[in-house]
Amino acid sequence: MTTPSYPDTRLLIANEWIDATGGKTIPVINPATGQPIGTVAHASVADLDRALAAAQQGFEAWRVVPAAERAAIMRRAANLLRERAGDIARLLTQEQGKPLAEAKGEALAGAEIIDWFAAEGMRVYGRIVPSRNPAAQQLVLKEPVGPVAAFTPWNFPINQIVRKLSAALTTGCSFLCKAPEETPASPAALLQCFVDAGLPPGVVGLVFGDPAEISGYLIPHPIIRKVTFTGSTPVGKQLAALAGKHMKRATMELGGHAPVIVAEDADVALAVRAAGAAKFRNAGQVCISPTRFLVHNAVKAEFTRALVQHAESLKLGDGLHEGTTLGPLANARRVSAMSQVVEDARAKGAVVATGGLRVGDTGNFFAPTILADVPLDASIFNDEPFGPVAGIRGFDSLEDAITEANRLPYGLAGYAFTRSIKNAQLLMNRMEVGMLWINQPATPSAELPFGGIKDSGYGSEGGPEALESYLNTKAVSMVGV
Ligand code: NAD
Repeated sequence: MTTPSYPDTRLLIANEWIDATGGKTIPVINPATGQPIGTVAHASVADLDRALAAAQQGFEAWRVVPAAERAAIMRRAANLLRERAGDIARLLTQEQGKPLAEAKGEALAGAEIIDWFAAEGMRVYGRIVPSRNPAAQQLVLKEPVGPVAAFTPWNFPINQIVRKLSAALTTGCSFLCKAPEETPASPAALLQCFVDAGLPPGVVGLVFGDPAEISGYLIPHPIIRKVTFTGSTPVGKQLAALAGKHMKRATMELGGHAPVIVAEDADVALAVRAAGAAKFRNAGQVCISPTRFLVHNAVKAEFTRALVQHAESLKLGDGLHEGTTLGPLANARRVSAMSQVVEDARAKGAVVATGGLRVGDTGNFFAPTILADVPLDASIFNDEPFGPVAGIRGFDSLEDAITEANRLPYGLAGYAFTRSIKNAQLLMNRMEVGMLWINQPATPSAELPFGGIKDSGYGSEGGPEALESYLNTKAVSMVGV
């Protein structure tokens, strides 16, 4: 097959694509081949100053646009994203590695999210509150918080931006994004849809460079009024602390370590189908990926056998190739992280039921891996693996499984399989997670809240709650008019 072309990515400031001052760039590597495929501009402080000034101008223009007109522009952008989904998917697969079908699915899901937020922004209501003083009128007004700084990761280069961007735009905020340097072209193509849809200059901006330098400059800057970040818990804590120091609103969507509880009365085949598919989607580099499989001892052997069979049926390869169902890991860091996770578990007594090794010596391929009888002190049961590795442990009582599920500081997603309403209710009430899926894979939609608790962060990126964090609330009481 012929290799599709891949563009160099520049900075988006005031609706224009520009090189970084001084022309500095960073190489972009295809994780399936290990070869450089393009470059991305590395912003200087002078570039950030221009982007900030544009974001302020964009905010002043956008906040006065009626919600219905904002929605119309957003819907146009969503339609452009749908039309361009095939081309954008090819960029995404080349820079990130996921199979082409998953990449196209990400772009199409992004369009759905934009449409939902466009409509929801027309339902941002204030209130009239009865006053204790008969001569006074009391109002509660909702206003956009202002220019937003967003920091997004490489695992879903489009959709990690889309949730933040859609909530910001629909409430009247402008949006300056530092997208991932490793996967820059698909975010650029996404933002081009918004520029082409008719956004005034400065309403969206896109920069790349040194992540710590950019967050260290943007978060304290007086123009920025809100910070939103998706990424690891340690980085999230640093950025949340910086946002707190400068009294900026913040949404933090951080790491997870999703437990999957398979009860004695579960439909085991369904559990394997649903959790197995979720486990290996995007090669496990998903914050809501199932990671700790807690399986009742009565069904553990059957479950393990079937999950191994599922893992072995996956076709590992370049995401651009027909038939690939599992792509490479997005960067070389993840390959060494996976090798360490497996070695640590093996040394502590776990059984490698399948996989466990890097595959080939070009590209970041790692075999889908199942670790059985994992001891609790193994790193896979404590630190987010973020890769195609699943760990299984048995349990005898559902209470014990819930205690284990809640043991870690993470609290993002959880999964459970049971046919009993009593068990389902116990799980629903007791699992310390922001999102729980029972007898099904994860189906995060725009209309459902999306976010975590505990060390997995705070704030929501779905449902009406997502808009609230982009709005200021102003109380007004007036007499004499
Ligand atoms: P990392 O912690 O270095 O970076 C995670 C993300 O944060 C990257 O996009 C990076 O560019 C950004 N980042 C890092 N330091 C930053 C800073 N000071 N300011 C602003 N942004 C910063 O780790 P990594 O090797 O890129 O990814 C591995 C880990 O990150 C995974 O194990 C996983 O826990 C986490 N992660 C989570 C998500 C998610 O969806 N929640 C996505 C990607 C990565």
